[in-house]
Amino acid sequence: MLNWIPGHIKEGRFGRWLEGARDWAISRNRFWGSPIPVWRCDTCNALFVPESIEQLSKVSGQKVRDLDRPNCDNICFDCTRKGCKGKMTRVPEVLDCWFESGAMPYAQVHFPFENKREFEQNFPASFIVEYVAQTRGWFYTLMVEAAAIMEKHPFENAICHGVILADDGRKMSKSLKNFPDPMKVVEEHGSDGLRIYLLSSAVVKGADIRFSEKGVKESVRRYLIPLWNSLHFFTSYAQLAKGYTPEKIQWLNTDADMADRHILSELETLKQQVDLAAKAYDQRVILCIEMDGNYSDSFAAHKEWLMAQTLAQKIETCVSKPFAELKDENGILKIQVVPVN
Ligand SMILES: [Zn+2]
Repeated sequence: MLNWIPGHIKEGRFGRWLEGARDWAISRNRFWGSPIPVWRCDTCNALFVPESIEQLSKVSGQKVRDLDRPNCDNICFDCTRKGCKGKMTRVPEVLDCWFESGAMPYAQVHFPFENKREFEQNFPASFIVEYVAQTRGWFYTLMVEAAAIMEKHPFENAICHGVILADDGRKMSKSLKNFPDPMKVVEEHGSDGLRIYLLSSAVVKGADIRFSEKGVKESVRRYLIPLWNSLHFFTSYAQLAKGYTPEKIQWLNTDADMADRHILSELETLKQQVDLAAKAYDQRVILCIEMDGNYSDSFAAHKEWLMAQTLAQKIETCVSKPFAELKDENGILKIQVVPVN
């Protein structure tokens, strides 16, 4: 099962490309490139394709070390067909570099020569990300080679992003200087502001956007500062409760207090949204993971972090009353919403 993000790419851009796909000429007539590993007899035109360096060494009677040009072109040998007195030399062409991009899943782990287990554990890939025009490029070449070699799809989720254009709607261009210095944007607004701006935009859903520094500033004002304030509010009061851990919170008065019930309802809705988004590889969730700064922890931990943030935000917006701490007879902390006098 292959999931495309956004979903319309499947039947649309990629589907239509597959329908109209023509034969792919994988050879190129140039010097530099990956030499095509095919040897041809000058007499009977028989072809020989070695399956390994070892086999090529054996057949040619020489120790093959270098597969690049020009050295590989000096590897010549007697025709492999019985009775033929011809000589075999390599065909002069190199591979289209897109062929190499499509070979990535195998080449990166030197499969099938080694790392068989590692390869099998990671193929098909859970997800890949590239810009939407790769439906004719990388997404396509990966698919063609996987279908031919493995008889299955090479990835399970393909996230297609759009192109970030300059504010004037043209391509970003060094000569036109129609874009701001990225590092200055980061210095001015912070990397999280830039992340939120981009990841909350349509560019992560396959559409092109015009980059606007004002938009980054607005993201900081609308999302980051309220989130930061909420976190500050939350931690200030959480620190007052000695030994506080989120796992030990028990809510009091949840039946009676409309604000509490509203908060808990929002939290449950959020959990569902995060679950659904994570399953659908929605990058808005990845945005939250990156903001946390813990890239390698379990996904569950990220979700907890996200929920804590949003909970804090909800508390700030829904309730104008601060926390107070309470411990019950078993020593379990209870956070209670109390009136302020
Ligand atoms: Zn021959």
